[in-house]
Amino acid sequence: MKKLKIEEIKIYETFENKLAECPFCVLEKSYEEQLMHSILGERIMDVDFYPKIGNEHKFCENHIEKLNRGSDKLGLAIMLDKIINEEKKKLHKNKPLQKKDNSVVKKLLSLSKNSSAPSNGKTNYECFICSKLDENNKDNIKTSVELWNKDMDFRLLYKESRGFCNNHYINMINELEKSSEKKGIADIYEVTNEIHLKNLERLQEELQWFIKKFDYLNSDKPWGTSKDSVQRALQKLLGNY
Ligand SMILES: [Zn+2]
Ligand SMILES: [Zn+2]
Repeated sequence: MKKLKIEEIKIYETFENKLAECPFCVLEKSYEEQLMHSILGERIMDVDFYPKIGNEHKFCENHIEKLNRGSDKLGLAIMLDKIINEEKKKLHKNKPLQKKDNSVVKKLLSLSKNSSAPSNGKTNYECFICSKLDENNKDNIKTSVELWNKDMDFRLLYKESRGFCNNHYINMINELEKSSEKKGIADIYEVTNEIHLKNLERLQEELQWFIKKFDYLNSDKPWGTSKDSVQRALQKLLGNY
């Protein structure tokens, strides 16, 4: 039995799912769901968390939308009520909503997606959830590089993986470039580029067969793995969207 830390086991198990278009997206999605569940659940009642809503803890448009897609309308209602309260406090100070750029509602609903140096092109550091996801993502990438350096079985899983979405591929390459002097990094750098290209080509073949299937001459031929290739191509290009 291998001796691995909890965070390493999580990475290991995610890479064991060889059909994932991006293991980091799988981890991100599960962490995001966990976070959103806890924000609208126990955190909304938390004496440390609740007072900060609308002040220190802001939420981007994307995450408000995702919170709204969930079933916890009570939690969301409490959150929105608190945000409106914060907004009213500002109005009491004679700061009109439409003229004040830093109003809570304005920040809540129109946080610019390209504010403050995003690391993966979509992170919004002002958003509580985005910044937590970014932290978690950095940890996952670091742990993966550590596993690569010490565990030969993990190397094999990594090489056989379907690579990453564009955002996580860039995150990975940036991390490897930062720590390029370390032993073993050169291998993983090459492998990461190799699997990225190889899997873009594989996905393209699947998409091309998907397109050809619309030709009546091919209508009786099997779909193979192409049937969900459009969704997987979107996942590859956009990550969790
Ligand atoms: Zn990804
Ligand atoms: Zn966000």
